[in-house]
Amino acid sequence: MTNMKNDMVDAFKATLRGPVLQPGEPGYDEARAVWNAMIDRRPALIARCSGTADVMAAVRFARANGLPLAVRGGGHSIAGSALCDDGLVIDLSGMRGVHVDPRARHAWVSGGATLADVDHETQSCGLAVPLGINSTTGAGGLTLGGGFGWLSRMYGLAVDNLFGAEIVTADGQRRWAGLQEEPDLFWAIRGGGGNFGVVTLFQFALHPVGPEVTAGLVVFPAAQGREVMRRYRDLVDTLPDELSVWAVLRQAPPLPFLSPEVHGSGIVALALFSPQGPGAAQPLLERVRGFGQVLGEHVGPMPYEAWQKIFDPLLAPGARNYWKSHNFTHLSDDAIDVVLRFAGSVPTPHCEIFLGLIGGKANAHPPDATAYPHRNVQFAMNVHGRWLEAADDASVVGWTRDFFAAAAPHAAGSVYINFLTQDEGARIHEAYGPNYARLVEIKQRYDPDNLFRFNHNIRPDA
Ligand code: FAD
Repeated sequence: MTNMKNDMVDAFKATLRGPVLQPGEPGYDEARAVWNAMIDRRPALIARCSGTADVMAAVRFARANGLPLAVRGGGHSIAGSALCDDGLVIDLSGMRGVHVDPRARHAWVSGGATLADVDHETQSCGLAVPLGINSTTGAGGLTLGGGFGWLSRMYGLAVDNLFGAEIVTADGQRRWAGLQEEPDLFWAIRGGGGNFGVVTLFQFALHPVGPEVTAGLVVFPAAQGREVMRRYRDLVDTLPDELSVWAVLRQAPPLPFLSPEVHGSGIVALALFSPQGPGAAQPLLERVRGFGQVLGEHVGPMPYEAWQKIFDPLLAPGARNYWKSHNFTHLSDDAIDVVLRFAGSVPTPHCEIFLGLIGGKANAHPPDATAYPHRNVQFAMNVHGRWLEAADDASVVGWTRDFFAAAAPHAAGSVYINFLTQDEGARIHEAYGPNYARLVEIKQRYDPDNLFRFNHNIRPDA
């Protein structure tokens, strides 16, 4: 990029409605900051696209000039794939519009919208798209990898709720991918990540949710972790699809409903979600309370939008992060023991082990229905290695890797693509399993030169 002529850059800028940022310009450093502070890349150009026409122009410019090209949605990729060094970033953060058609129960979501953007518009009609659990995540990156959260057991993954998408492919063309038009492309973007182009617009199905739901946390001491986790594991086998319970093992943050002497001690927190009123959730709450000595709880009616933001403070941007993940079809006693052993030795108070419950309608499709293949998974377990100081890099990365290795014999041998970190290129095959070969074939057709390669890359020549 160093030999890019100023007049070429100026000509490129003139083709866009949105601004293009270069190193040293006001706003450039903010624009190259992503959620994971471990990522420090310096693109030559950041194109803040204002619409599909800008995206088409940017794709054509990168292609014509042989520039590395990255695409930024919500900037949450742990691997930092929203950015590249010395190339062009198509920044979708200015494209966050959401339009709801309540009669048809469809939502039209722009490629850079966050979960908070989607929830805000859809909840004004008492409707929701099944997305994730942290409101600042990009709906784009989350959906393109599969996308699961509190509603997935009831309504399926984000990709299971996609009618179609507008996508700018590597040739710079705008296409519509749906069941009728470009069906292979539509199949590939339902799990295949950003490998096939830039999605500028998603069309989702909407479902009635809330606006008030019943949700919250029940917290137990780590000392009772074995009993609590075993009973949790047994509970989820009998849980109806509309209910969800996730587990978080960490040191207690200073939550107002926990007494100060609990803060900083090891805990198992169970996060309960029911889309219904408190009465309907009461039997679940009572059962969970019986798992052990409750250190504190905060469960009750609240707006769905508020619940969607409940974990935001623990997952705020700007910290250093190194995550690893395993899928589980069943949580064995041995797996629980490994989880508890490592939860008891977290190297910083920000580290945690997260067990997201999937199952239910998310597993009601054959593995080849979409590029996302894991239709037998009950839990996605995420080890959140998370810290603030560079001096702790080695100890946290080491802890995360050790836990990952110790848990591997008990895991399913597969992984959710959206939880891969930057040094896990060798696991991409694992993330797609039997669907990998078809993804390669579709990549060859739509992006033979691998223009879109700053992602968990499916190489056209694989
Ligand atoms: P980005 O870093 O902007 O993008 C990620 C990748 O997707 C990049 O390769 C980018 O090029 C591509 N991309 C993004 N948007 C587009 C687009 N419109 N068109 C083409 N390519 C695009 N996942 C879940 O399923 N459920 C969760 O509850 C969940 N919680 C999370 C919480 C946190 C704090 C974090 C950090 C991640 C979480 N994830 C979750 C994982 C999340 O789905 C991925 O990190 C996802 O890639 C984030 O998308 P993004 O748009 O924010 O990120």
